[in-house]
Amino acid sequence: MIDTHCHLTDPRLRSRLDDVLNRAQVAGVTRMITIGVTLADAAACLELCDRVPNLRCAIGVHPNHSHEVEPADLPQLRGLQNHPAVLALGEMGLDYHYEFSPRDRQRATFEFQLQLATELKRKVVIHCREATDDCLTIMAAFPSVRAVFHCFTAGLIDARKILDAGHILGFTGPVTYKKSDELRAVAAMVPEDRFVVETDAPYLSPEPMRKQKTNEPALVIHTAQAIAAVRGKTLEEIDQITTANAERFFSWSIERS
Ligand SMILES: [Zn+2]
Repeated sequence: MIDTHCHLTDPRLRSRLDDVLNRAQVAGVTRMITIGVTLADAAACLELCDRVPNLRCAIGVHPNHSHEVEPADLPQLRGLQNHPAVLALGEMGLDYHYEFSPRDRQRATFEFQLQLATELKRKVVIHCREATDDCLTIMAAFPSVRAVFHCFTAGLIDARKILDAGHILGFTGPVTYKKSDELRAVAAMVPEDRFVVETDAPYLSPEPMRKQKTNEPALVIHTAQAIAAVRGKTLEEIDQITTANAERFFSWSIERS
């Protein structure tokens, strides 16, 4: 299984990375994509990818960090995309829940990255919180860009809009939470070739491990299990489906014997 979205550069994971990677291996989570959220984090992601096999990354400026990256420095993202471990641009987007960055700064940073994705023909990883309509409106100006809406937790109507625009959904721990009936309804209806699984570790531990404060890639199995249950599939089938989807979306295939 591939954890398509984690933050292994976060000190909570990085400080005990060998254990985290071992537990992932034991759980059958053999590949991971670690996500860079600032330019400084990008360097840390690349350094990790250079020494950890089966690890790749996406590099971008997260909306909650938009105010920390000077507009004049954003063009550095272009060169970073040349590194062979980088599979996509992001995470990028809009976050109206926290609004750590002013909305106009979030938007400008988002548009810069969508323009770059257009030029480089890159897939993008979207962080979108309470902002689906604005995200899709902005993205409509960059029609060739295909995205994964990571950590999708909105409802059926938003899911429909995102899928109709040609993008895919990433499911995380919340799909396992007791109150998430509508999210499970989304997981049940999304077409088989249009979703991936992820942890967003160290955040959002899934049930039944929700008490584990620091989420980690091994636990993506529980999210896949919840999706298997609502789709009437086995865990192995969801593994095959989401692995194929992630390989296709991120253009990351491996030799199989
Ligand atoms: Zn993330």
